[in-house]
Amino acid sequence: MGFWWRPLATLSVIALFALLLGAGGGESLALKFAVLALLGYLVRQLWQENRLARWLEQGADRPAPSDIGVWGDIFYRLEKLQKRQSESQSELISALARFQHATEAVPDGIVILNEQDQIAWCNPASRKLLGLDSQRDRGQFVRYLLRQSDFVDFLNARDYSRQLNINSPANRDIKLMLQLVPFGAEQKLLMARDITELERVDAMRRDFVANVSHELRTPLTVVGGFVETLNDMDKPADADLRHYFGIMLNHTRRMQRLLDDLLTLSRLESSVNAVADEQVYMPELMRELAREGESLSRGKHTVRLEIDSQDWLSGSLQELQSAFSNLVSNAVRYTQEGGELTLRWFVRDGQPVFAVTDTGEGIASEHIPRLTERFYRVDRSRSRETGGTGLGLAIVKHILTRHGARLDIQSTPGKGSTFSAIFPAERLIPSKNEDEKPRLSLVK
Ligand code: ADP
Repeated sequence: MGFWWRPLATLSVIALFALLLGAGGGESLALKFAVLALLGYLVRQLWQENRLARWLEQGADRPAPSDIGVWGDIFYRLEKLQKRQSESQSELISALARFQHATEAVPDGIVILNEQDQIAWCNPASRKLLGLDSQRDRGQFVRYLLRQSDFVDFLNARDYSRQLNINSPANRDIKLMLQLVPFGAEQKLLMARDITELERVDAMRRDFVANVSHELRTPLTVVGGFVETLNDMDKPADADLRHYFGIMLNHTRRMQRLLDDLLTLSRLESSVNAVADEQVYMPELMRELAREGESLSRGKHTVRLEIDSQDWLSGSLQELQSAFSNLVSNAVRYTQEGGELTLRWFVRDGQPVFAVTDTGEGIASEHIPRLTERFYRVDRSRSRETGGTGLGLAIVKHILTRHGARLDIQSTPGKGSTFSAIFPAERLIPSKNEDEKPRLSLVK
């Protein structure tokens, strides 16, 4: 039941007494009684209000004033409410303290940015990794504190799937991987991870592979040279020996191709330089690639050329030629005799595209995402038979990534495949003149 009935009952009792007194003939006595009783009632209300105000003023953690009736109820309920509130407040404080301890223990730098990219908060690790101070830098625009142009571009791009590797602005010896994670309304978490050790181990692995490949190359060239000489001799001992020399020659050539591909990959991986800014006349490169495909195919396939654009491509001629050759060579190697290869150069939605379509054996969809991994082959023996090293598409992917391009693979088992290198629109250099002569001669 609500509070209203008790004051109403008190007022009713006063009114009843006043009426009884009035009925007994004492009208003025009844009036005096009513006035005095109401005055008394009012004074009591004011006194209780005053107690309540003082209790609230003194900080409500002291016990509430005790009373009977309505005010007793009010004090009791307020005290209960107060207790519940202070309990949830202390829970909140301890949760905050736990969160603070956890973020202090996190080795990664964590910075909360508001919608204008101002620093709202950062953890202690961001001081060591990013040189930020949670007190001093709160409210500052992060781009004024981390001024590397790569970082500013990364921040402005708002591409939350991207990661950026930079040197720490606080210590040049520390390598950082940065990532932006959106949350709430337009807020972001900037995460900075120390990847110095990872990069060191990766560099060691790259150097090891490059050194081993390099060291093996010279002895292999010597052995290969002798085997070739023996194989070419006019009077070999007997047919068996000639057969063995043939096998040895095949294997030394395969190992040489493998070492060449390993060296190409490690050169691409360790290349810190931006990709060369050459202008490649694609129609001429396409004709060169078609000739290469015909010579690899030795007349076993039909090679078609579709040049729908006279435009140029900006990038490294040597790298682009190597990537496209790999795709053409795969199309020849994985297409049975009598099949067809189509090499295309065109512009789609402003993006330049190089594509090779074959009518070969095709690839089941579960293999497609893994094809660019080193040594991943759908059919190991088929790859070896046709002289594959298992590194071709890994090289293609590296070269395309360096050019900001991506590799798209469409394939239907039994029907054939299309491998497309899709470049960003900025790499397209429109031809001004249809009869334009190549501005760069192609390296053979
Ligand atoms: P490999 O030297 O073995 O050809 P790649 O890296 O060039 O190595 O290719 C990886 C694998 O992808 C190949 O082993 C093959 O299974 C598959 N592949 C590549 N290109 C084609 C193609 N055009 N048609 C069918 N399968 C292909």
